[in-house]
Amino acid sequence: MASHKTHYEDCDVLVVGGGMAGTGATFEARHWGRDMKIICVEKANIDRSGAVAQGLYAINCYMGMQWGENQPEDHVRYARNDLMGMVREDLGYDMARHVDSAVHMFDEWGLPMMKNEKTGRYLREGKWQIMIHGESYKPIVAEAAKKSADKIYNRIMITHLLMDEAQENRIGGAVGFNMRTGDFHVFRAKTVIVAAGGASHIFKPRAVGEGMGRTWYAPWSNGSAYALPIAVGAKMTQMENRIVLCRFKDGYGPVGAYFLHLKTYTQNANGENYEKKWYEQTKELVGEYIDHHPTPTCLRNHAFIQETIAGGGPIHMVTTEAFQDPHLETVGWENFLGMTVGQAVVWASQNIDPKYTNPELTTSEPYVMGSHATCSGAWVSGPEDLSPPEYFWGYNRMLTVDGLFGAGDTVGGSAHKFSSGSFTEGRLAAKAAVKYIQDQKAEGIKVTDKQCDDFKEAIFKPLETYTVAQNEITGGTVSPSYISPIQGLQRLQRIMDEYVGGIATNYMTNGNMLKRGLELLAWLEEDLEKVGAEDLHQLMRAWELKHRALTSQCVTEHTMFREETRWPGYYYRGDHMKLDDDNWHCLTVSRRDPKTGKFSLEKVPVYHIVDENEKKKAS
Ligand SMILES: Cc1cc2nc3c(=O)[nH]c(=O)nc-3n(C[C@H](O)[C@H](O)[C@H](O)COP(=O)(O)OP(=O)(O)OC[C@H]3O[C@@H](n4cnc5c(N)ncnc54)[C@H](O)[C@@H]3O)c2cc1C
Repeated sequence: MASHKTHYEDCDVLVVGGGMAGTGATFEARHWGRDMKIICVEKANIDRSGAVAQGLYAINCYMGMQWGENQPEDHVRYARNDLMGMVREDLGYDMARHVDSAVHMFDEWGLPMMKNEKTGRYLREGKWQIMIHGESYKPIVAEAAKKSADKIYNRIMITHLLMDEAQENRIGGAVGFNMRTGDFHVFRAKTVIVAAGGASHIFKPRAVGEGMGRTWYAPWSNGSAYALPIAVGAKMTQMENRIVLCRFKDGYGPVGAYFLHLKTYTQNANGENYEKKWYEQTKELVGEYIDHHPTPTCLRNHAFIQETIAGGGPIHMVTTEAFQDPHLETVGWENFLGMTVGQAVVWASQNIDPKYTNPELTTSEPYVMGSHATCSGAWVSGPEDLSPPEYFWGYNRMLTVDGLFGAGDTVGGSAHKFSSGSFTEGRLAAKAAVKYIQDQKAEGIKVTDKQCDDFKEAIFKPLETYTVAQNEITGGTVSPSYISPIQGLQRLQRIMDEYVGGIATNYMTNGNMLKRGLELLAWLEEDLEKVGAEDLHQLMRAWELKHRALTSQCVTEHTMFREETRWPGYYYRGDHMKLDDDNWHCLTVSRRDPKTGKFSLEKVPVYHIVDENEKKKAS
């Protein structure tokens, strides 16, 4: 290992991932921890990293409390409804009550916000969304983080968390490698905030071969947010709650502005409103949830999927009416320029002008993320003023490992945070992390050189494996002694796709398929000990794959545990096709034992705090 130089850095707050949550955390840590040493480590370059790298056209979470537009309670009700009842309301409320102040800072920092000419307020796209010229959204929040941190490390992938050897179940920092220099980096830290984004590419994507990488969710989001905590035994929640998106076909262009602002609508190939057709069938599965307003996202997907299976596809977005209005036509195109230029290119290549041709829609492969319209992620403590005892253990957004915090996609149970809510949650986590240090909870942490050296050996092993095994390569890439990251990735994606409810089975799975999936994932894990990397970029791919594989195990275990179909349209348990509120109106929580690698799962009550408080006030 002598060829990989080791760098040591000691700090108070270590932020892993400089996306929306990570920049929020880095900024806020400085506010509360004036004299503290704050480090942010990012796999890419924080100016253009994470899901917001290319920009956004709307901030999807803004209450507008200054104008009485919405209150945090409204947002809790909205998220609870969309997630078929399964959310952590304490976390959602906490985010919602603070999110407006984060958006106001973005405005101050120069993010161009669209304004309603009549009212002077931010221009609404929908009840929760406000419109921005957001191409530079990410560089703007990155600047705030850069000015706040002692140091930002770009191009370092964190592969493992360090544990304190003096006190059980306490964090000690993190390690990783620089993808440009190949150097090994040890960050010994009093607290770690994991903000490393969700997981794309764990299920086989629709775009394969020449189109591989063209997914809805950023291909570089590889589940580190989950794998890092899972590996050290932190509890996770709702990992079965993957997300499937209805998007414009092939380019995955967003549909929000089209539905909400342009008032476009969908129809099947015969020009019919197919959603109505599936009402009775959906009611059979989920009961009165289908009558909720707005219709939960998964149930709209369900109608789409059923209609397609029944032969009613392709499904189209009716754009030809709205696009006759020159203003709406401009908005429709600009929507892509700000965040998904590729969709415009796809339409050009397919000779589609939405003014004259209704473009096709599709449902995506599933993704795992905790900040969008689903809530997979870590089981964290809530705020002390809101959380019931089962949801509270001292510090807001602290995981079940002491000193380890999370924000954004990392945190489970709190959907619909989006970009602004993730930034806000980063701020909340950082404030609590600073307090944890000020409360002397991080004294006497011991991280030995041996712990670091062992990780160093493990991290660079794929390079060694390749160096030795390359002599046996035949036929270009085939070797009996190692597998490449792309081979491993494709194997993982097929397992997840075919056994855990991907597109191959129209999102269908069952107990037997999941059991088989878990067996295949265990063998993959064994084989990943032999993953080879020919250069530093492939070394990153190897570690991304390992993080994806561990995340996938957790997703599969959770899907196996929840014996009902809670979110038809996201996935189906064929052996338990109905929503079962009697037995499963609860959150699922898992823990992987770091020593044995075995998962254990439990049900945890879901508390409907907002309505309970209202009921109490009324009585
Ligand atoms: C396609 C898409 C469209 C969206 N559209 C909107 C929208 O219109 N409006 C809106 O408000 N929100 C939108 N969102 C949601 C928003 O982008 C996310 O909620 C938000 O980015 C989540 O923040 P995060 O910090 O958790 O993750 P990210 O912002 O993705 O940041 C994660 C960061 O961690 C880094 N990282 C990952 N692994 C490691 C590692 N091992 N070591 C070091 N660094 C690592 C990544 O490089 C990245 O910078 C959209 C999301 C997606 C995927």
